[in-house]
Amino acid sequence: MKAHDGMYIGGAWRAAAGTETIEVTNPADGTLLATVPAGGPEDVDAAVRAARAALPGWAATSPAERAARLGALRDILVDRREEIAATVTSELGSPLTLSQKVHAAVPIAVCGSYAELAGTYAFEEETGNSRVLREPVGVVGAITPWNYPLHQIVAKAAPALAAGCTMVLKPAEDTPLVAQLFAEAVHEAGVPAGVFNLVTGLGPVAGQALAEHEGIDLLSFTGSTAVGRRIGAVAAGGVKRVALELGGKSANVILPGADLAKAVKVGVANVMSNSGQTCSAWTRMLVDSERYDEAVRLAAEAAAKYVTGDPLDEGTRVGPVVNAKQRERVTGYITRGQEEGARLVTGGAEPPEGQERGHYVRPTVLADVTPEMTVAQEEIFGPVLSLLRYEDTEDALRIANGTVYGLAGAVWAENEEDAVAFARRMETGQVDINGGRFNPLAPFGGYKQSGVGRELGAHGLEEYLQTKSLQF
Ligand code: NAD
Repeated sequence: MKAHDGMYIGGAWRAAAGTETIEVTNPADGTLLATVPAGGPEDVDAAVRAARAALPGWAATSPAERAARLGALRDILVDRREEIAATVTSELGSPLTLSQKVHAAVPIAVCGSYAELAGTYAFEEETGNSRVLREPVGVVGAITPWNYPLHQIVAKAAPALAAGCTMVLKPAEDTPLVAQLFAEAVHEAGVPAGVFNLVTGLGPVAGQALAEHEGIDLLSFTGSTAVGRRIGAVAAGGVKRVALELGGKSANVILPGADLAKAVKVGVANVMSNSGQTCSAWTRMLVDSERYDEAVRLAAEAAAKYVTGDPLDEGTRVGPVVNAKQRERVTGYITRGQEEGARLVTGGAEPPEGQERGHYVRPTVLADVTPEMTVAQEEIFGPVLSLLRYEDTEDALRIANGTVYGLAGAVWAENEEDAVAFARRMETGQVDINGGRFNPLAPFGGYKQSGVGRELGAHGLEEYLQTKSLQF
């Protein structure tokens, strides 16, 4: 695949300071797709300097000008959506239809929402005898994961640019190609040199250097709780603003009286999508004792239809997981679940027959899972659904809230008001009521150890703003 052998810094593709590279492979068959430079502290430093130099000019542009650039960027992403989808499928392994409908379409919607918000948001406001100015925080250091590789970049870059910030992005090492494509789009959209900079590289090297850099004003990180906790502490120690979007273990609560067949079907689809590599996935399905066995039967039946296969085949709904390490991790959890007493009702740790070359994991359902089991507490990040039984609503709430995470969730009930009443008591940042639908303007982010701060919509924009008040 086509790849740049440099970093996008100061508006141009420049050679990296060192000679280290990263091999980007296709998780469906292990073939080499491309190599990209593995940047180091010197490259990060050059990128941060370029962002700093561009800050005064970009911060001084009118919101209308920033809206125009983001609108142009959105249009380029629309024009290049097939290329985006093909790139994500190659480096992540997601089925092409999912890449088109989600990996390309969602960033387009989010970029469009910020093009609009940049033009309509009240960057200045009068209150009493004061005028409150909302100004850009400054230079943003952004670190993103591989699971929704373009979405996670756009969820940071679009609000940062809308706010008048400049930035340096360090994308995940597994999916740098779509990040390069995004940098090309930013360039094409006429965003001035230095406003957006890209440094590809390894987390503990380039990522660490960015998190520790004195020249950033805000560190925005999406990734695992373990890494987020460590580098968040480093950045906060430098009195930088910190935004963390971390892991999850979300509950899908099916209340008595809810449409069980629909709730289970949608719940299984939610977990199997993107091979389960979704931070907000509803990985714990909670069902009342009376209907539990029926739910297990329905879930097993539904999951068995999600056969794994070549992401390029039109019928494929579950591709491989991103790499060998991830495959090992996921199958390790399946085995651990069984060892701790969970009952395997479909799937399992064995690789699917005939697909040993790719990093495939069988869509798996575990029943008789109890709240203290490892598979009910830790993020698996694979196509694995656990079903837990509850006795009454209070028990369901205790189980739903009984993890260190609080990113997302779902509630199903016969009456919407009952679902909303339950959702109000959930310790989590986003809840889908009787199915719900994605809204690019709705704030997204975690309670508890799922993170700090919010992305998307006006709340997402405000992460990149700081306030100044003028007293009259
Ligand atoms: P990860 O934490 O290993 O890596 C994320 C990013 O951090 C990558 O760019 C990586 O290179 C970088 N990184 C790794 N070590 C670093 C270090 N020492 N210093 C600086 N940067 C470092 O996570 P991952 O495996 O890429 O992604 C999966 C995780 O991301 C899951 O836990 C998932 O729940 C989480 N996630 C959260 C959200 C959310 O919005 N809350 C969204 C998607 C993914």
